[in-house]
Amino acid sequence: MFNEGLSYDDVLLEPGYSELLPKECSVRTVLCDGIHLNVPIISAAMDTVTEEKMAIAIALEGGAGVIHRNLNPEEQARQVSNVKRFLNWIIESPVTVPEDAHLRDVRELIAKFGVSGLPVVDKDGILKGIITNRDLRFRRDDSLPVVDVMKNELVVVTGEPTVDKAREKFDEYRIEKLPVIDSEGRLTGLITVTDMEKNENFPNAAVDKNGRLIVGAAVSPQDFTIRLPLLKKAKADFIVIDTAHGDSKNVMEAVRQIKKDYDIPVIGGNVATKEGTKRLIEAGADAVKVGIGPGSICTTRIIAGIGVPQFTAVMECAEEAAKFNIPAIADGGIKFSGDITKAIGAGAGVVMIGNLFAGLKEAPGSEIIFDGRIYKEYRGMGSMGAIADGAGDRYQIGKDEEPVPEGIEGRVPYKGELRSYLNQLVAGLRKGMGYCGCRDIKELNKYRRFIKISAAGLRESHPHDVMITQEAPNYSRA
Ligand code: IMP
Repeated sequence: MFNEGLSYDDVLLEPGYSELLPKECSVRTVLCDGIHLNVPIISAAMDTVTEEKMAIAIALEGGAGVIHRNLNPEEQARQVSNVKRFLNWIIESPVTVPEDAHLRDVRELIAKFGVSGLPVVDKDGILKGIITNRDLRFRRDDSLPVVDVMKNELVVVTGEPTVDKAREKFDEYRIEKLPVIDSEGRLTGLITVTDMEKNENFPNAAVDKNGRLIVGAAVSPQDFTIRLPLLKKAKADFIVIDTAHGDSKNVMEAVRQIKKDYDIPVIGGNVATKEGTKRLIEAGADAVKVGIGPGSICTTRIIAGIGVPQFTAVMECAEEAAKFNIPAIADGGIKFSGDITKAIGAGAGVVMIGNLFAGLKEAPGSEIIFDGRIYKEYRGMGSMGAIADGAGDRYQIGKDEEPVPEGIEGRVPYKGELRSYLNQLVAGLRKGMGYCGCRDIKELNKYRRFIKISAAGLRESHPHDVMITQEAPNYSRA
């Protein structure tokens, strides 16, 4: 029995009547279990794609990153924690100085923690004053008591302030630091003007209810019991069970156990069939990641002879997942922004991207010059290099076994910073939505007007019969 399997290149969305301009289309989406993103794109859990820099950059623009698991558990959790703290507009446990300290202690703490000032507290944690670099600048005598130098007429906020309330205080009093206290005067947090400014500069950032950037982390069925306690403590928003074959017993068991023992949203995967999708959802997955073999660095289909062309896989899995009101994530095979429109048109809520992000400045690794052009390394997590660095269990390769890779190692053109590149991708998606008259992601999910094209149709779709003389920021065939 043969089923037909189609790739993104085999189809186009038919344009339809529209009253919308692209900029009027909303690209906000649900990633999983109440986590919303302002842009339906996440970066892949790969060691040449997502570490803390990428995760910060993409979340600031409204998407999210998944920190890969070729890092030891402590380092992975540390990176998650750095992402969570980046936009931390309220510092929950600020460094403080006791009221019986002296200026030399203040200088030491300021240097050690790289902060510009410290709240002064008594032994019960009651806020007594604040001392900053400015107060120390012309003081020569370091043996002076803090209480003689600190400011004690303080502007504070009480309880759980909102961003707007804090903004008002900064505006009214022209201060640099705003302590947060409880009803008894105990210090519970600190807001700095720098953190407020960061917030203002990124109005589209994907944030949790406390205003912190959203970030995920990858685990495997073999290592989740070690990684999860650390990732929970680091405040990861969601976990991705990162396996090549999600429709397997050990993945189902891992999903079940994580949902039972840890209170955290779980994305299960990867699958490419209706049945696999259903099994993952029944095991408790909050979202299902779809893609067996579409990745640009992937050799699974060639080595093992299995897989489902990605457009069909997304269509089938998303349809099944929708019955349970669970989102599907289209992972791998995105070559141009139009593929994102097609993936969402096929029913996905979010796409996961590796290749297109590996050449960005924020991806791990440095730039390589080759033949006069700049590149960055990009490799599959099932490649020889990634396996040697510890990723073998994604492909059931034990530490002492001879590796049989399912991915390759290569390089991709350097693309500069994420911000403008991501804008191009999102603008492409919005254009597609505008052409179809779809106001938001849900409407595009339901649009379902695809047309199958031939090889001649694909040839016609790309620029043809012309020598490109100027590279466009959203089109390259390198
Ligand atoms: P890309 O965006 O087309 O490059 O696909 C990225 C996706 O490929 C990742 O999110 C993974 O799901 C998948 N992937 C990563 N490494 C490998 C590998 O070595 N073999 C097969 N698939 C891989």
